[in-house]
Amino acid sequence: MDLTTIKSMIRIKEDFPKEGISFKDITPVINDAKAFRYVIKKMCEDFYGRDIDLVVGPEARGFIMGSAMAYELGTGFVPVRKPGKLPADVEKYEYQLEYGMDALEIHRDAIRPGQRVIIVDDLLATGGTVSATAHLVESLGGIVEAFVFLIELTELGGRERLKNYDVKSLVEYP
Ligand code: 5GP
Repeated sequence: MDLTTIKSMIRIKEDFPKEGISFKDITPVINDAKAFRYVIKKMCEDFYGRDIDLVVGPEARGFIMGSAMAYELGTGFVPVRKPGKLPADVEKYEYQLEYGMDALEIHRDAIRPGQRVIIVDDLLATGGTVSATAHLVESLGGIVEAFVFLIELTELGGRERLKNYDVKSLVEYP
């Protein structure tokens, strides 16, 4: 298995979910046992043996990649969700989209001050989702060690937005 093969397995769906969007569908990768295992191990590569307490992932595909990474690294997993989904006390962060606002929530007791976390999602585009996730982590006193993605859309400015952090991705598209 190699990253060229992984890239060939990512299905490009034009005009999904809206006209003009070229959607990168990771489901064929996670459907294949060897490919799924390969990408998870690659995403974990820099973190074996490091002092990482938690993996944090935003819904929904961040749950898939993030919980597999947490299992592989032997850490806990923390879900970050759209408002109204988490049952206990939450911290909420609202952020601006191109049109309108969005918000994400995290359980207040999910991270203790000083815990080291990595934030994981399937894809980095503008970086809005993971920046909001980092805000939530840091508002609870967590330390963001790195961001990890399977896919990076390099022309949407996500890496620039995360320039004060360590950012790792496996496969790039313009
Ligand atoms: P951002 O917040 O960086 O602009 O967008 C990234 C978020 O949107 C991620 O949570 C990701 O799952 C989702 N996303 C945006 N575009 C795509 C895409 O083409 N494929 C997939 N799989 N997810 C996308």
